[in-house]
Amino acid sequence: MFSERPDRLNGYIGTHVGAGAITPGEKSTSVIDRDATDAIFPGHPLVRITNTTHDVLIDLIYATPDNVAGQTIYQRPICLIHRDAAACLRRAVMRATEVGCRLKIFDAFRPQEAQVILWDTAPDKAYVADPRIGSNHTRGTAVDLTLADEAGQELDMGTAFDDMTSLSHHFCDKVPPLAQANRLLLMNIMESAGFRHIPHEWWHYALPEQDAYPLIASESLGTLNPMRGL
Ligand SMILES: [Zn+2]
Repeated sequence: MFSERPDRLNGYIGTHVGAGAITPGEKSTSVIDRDATDAIFPGHPLVRITNTTHDVLIDLIYATPDNVAGQTIYQRPICLIHRDAAACLRRAVMRATEVGCRLKIFDAFRPQEAQVILWDTAPDKAYVADPRIGSNHTRGTAVDLTLADEAGQELDMGTAFDDMTSLSHHFCDKVPPLAQANRLLLMNIMESAGFRHIPHEWWHYALPEQDAYPLIASESLGTLNPMRGL
């Protein structure tokens, strides 16, 4: 899955903006057009996600010291995602709303520098992509999230985000049935919107065909690089 070599870390010029998970026939809808034109800079593959633009809750865990690395990684809570993933996210928001839920995002685009910190501090490296290879988060095509109720209260998923143990695996029989059901609801919402799950992290969803999406260099983000202070 992680086939990019570090010397192929790309800027945004010439990056792939292919259909990915977008269902044929849906590309001309206003929702997708909006994310295609809402790039952080003209032609950039990333768009900015906010509570108001995408009707999601956002709690960027790595912009606080209360995360698995035990340190503030992002200097500013700027949430970015690939425009193809943003289009799928809008679908997921609509489907969550239909069942009385909201999506709460913990992380989306992750600069390579942040991936290095997570790799260096990870209690179990099986749960973190080697930065020498690259994370799908650094392609902008992955999102870490959970479900909340309409009041914003997180649903019980059995573990916290970034719990790097077997309890975070889908279908772990040590997780109570209600939490398993909540995970399956999130999976249903996200997969029906075009994302794919991975077996060992209930919170992680990504577009298929990852190799079609290059890693995105944080230098291309200018002042919107979350690693950069004001
Ligand atoms: Zn993830």
